[in-house]
Amino acid sequence: MRAVAGYSKTWGSEATIGETEIKVEKLLQGKRAVVTGGSRGIGRAIALEFAREGAEVCLTYASNDAAAQETLALLKEAGARAPVALKGDAADADFAKEVAARVKDAYGGVDLLVNNAGVTDDGLLMRMKKESFDRVIATNLNGAFYMLKELSPFMLKQRTGRVVNISSVAGLKGNAGQANYAASKAGLVGLTLSAAKELGGKGVTVNAVAPGFIDTDMTKALTEGRLEQALNAIAAGRPGTPEEVAYLVAFLCSDRAAYITGQVVAIDGGLVM
Ligand code: NAP
Repeated sequence: MRAVAGYSKTWGSEATIGETEIKVEKLLQGKRAVVTGGSRGIGRAIALEFAREGAEVCLTYASNDAAAQETLALLKEAGARAPVALKGDAADADFAKEVAARVKDAYGGVDLLVNNAGVTDDGLLMRMKKESFDRVIATNLNGAFYMLKELSPFMLKQRTGRVVNISSVAGLKGNAGQANYAASKAGLVGLTLSAAKELGGKGVTVNAVAPGFIDTDMTKALTEGRLEQALNAIAAGRPGTPEEVAYLVAFLCSDRAAYITGQVVAIDGGLVM
């Protein structure tokens, strides 16, 4: 990389000044990433941003094969050489073991883990079934723990790594009708802080990102009334995009964020402040 005085640009692309072509080092060059729930929505945007920034990406997903295949093709276009998509249930501890074995085979290890897979199953507390509560906790919270447990040993051994857990503003302020979801997302905050304390001395950072209202399939399920209510509460006056979340996650996973750990970074257009 050539340093050019007075020249500034975004990471990860080529630029020309006059006749001179400059290659700028990509933010995540050579990193190996696992993104859970990477086939659609925010997870897909993170996976694609990682690939554009030079990382190899292994994504996981639950059932939507077509979306996973489409994302694999997009990852190749974005520059990933050997993207992998693994189908399995985040709530299954054995699946995390399989992911660890597969990334070891494919890439020799892992540097970045984004625990993004998540579901909602909304209902008022009094009517919420135990199964609904258990399933949302098992997917959103237990799943992140399983991945952290199986993949952090790679990072500890190499004494460098990045973990980002995708929480939610619902985990910080609660949400009527989302006791299960908010509890899982608040749980992710506790998991993040504890892991940051355990792993911090070994070069591994662990942070959480708390998105507000982001335009994905998950929020498309909202009723008109809930949608209007949500938009009225956002200072920016609009939903966020999956790409906006992805830029933040990519930064937190970069070498430039080496001294940021144990943080919960909200990205919500001013919804919670
Ligand atoms: P989405 O569009 O519904 O995508 C969910 C992704 O997770 C898909 O790839 C899905 O796979 C995967 N997934 C779901 N259940 C799974 C399971 N049991 N095992 C493995 N993978 C599973 O959701 P999103 O809106 O992008 O949300 C991504 C994350 O951000 C979630 O953790 C969510 O809670 C969080 N978040 C979202 C918002 C928002 O406004 N959208 C706000 C705050 C936080 P399939 O394609 O196979 O179904």
